Amino acid sequence: MSKIENLRELLVHELKDLYNAETQLVKALPKMAKAASDEDLAQAFEQHLEQTKGHVERLERVFELLDEKPRGKTCEAMKGLITEGNEAIGEDATDEVKDAALIVAAQKVEHYEIAGYGSVRTFANLLGEREIADILQETLDEEGETDKKLTEIAESLNVEALTGAEEEDE
Ligand code: FE
Ligand code: FE
Repeated sequence: MSKIENLRELLVHELKDLYNAETQLVKALPKMAKAASDEDLAQAFEQHLEQTKGHVERLERVFELLDEKPRGKTCEAMKGLITEGNEAIGEDATDEVKDAALIVAAQKVEHYEIAGYGSVRTFANLLGEREIADILQETLDEEGETDKKLTEIAESLNVEALTGAEEEDE
């Protein structure tokens, strides 16, 4: 990797990381949706897939504004998080437990994105790039909403099925 000379170059570097992460997610989210048994969870993944396609487009717009190219970096962290998502998908577990495992994997992804977008939003502001900061903030807000929604779905999961309480009662 070539030397990063200043904050603008770091911003571009981190944006490339996010761009690669988002494109990986566009491929991974349909598999998460298919693996989910809970209707709300499957729907949340489908909805976030559509949002994620929008995140890719927003980043493309940001690269245009910076007169830079989006390609050239692999996000190793997202690769790892998606590997863990695939582990959840392949888990030999009840539907309910698998859904819970999918939620863990998905929330880890959202938190990673929230960290990345929060930083690049702040860097864009420091550089006086208000339009770019606003675009990144929009995506950051959607990642935050998705994280919150996943928490709500987790809270509504069937506790009896998850704990095996039903069988104990019999
Ligand atoms: Fe995203
Ligand atoms: Fe996301």
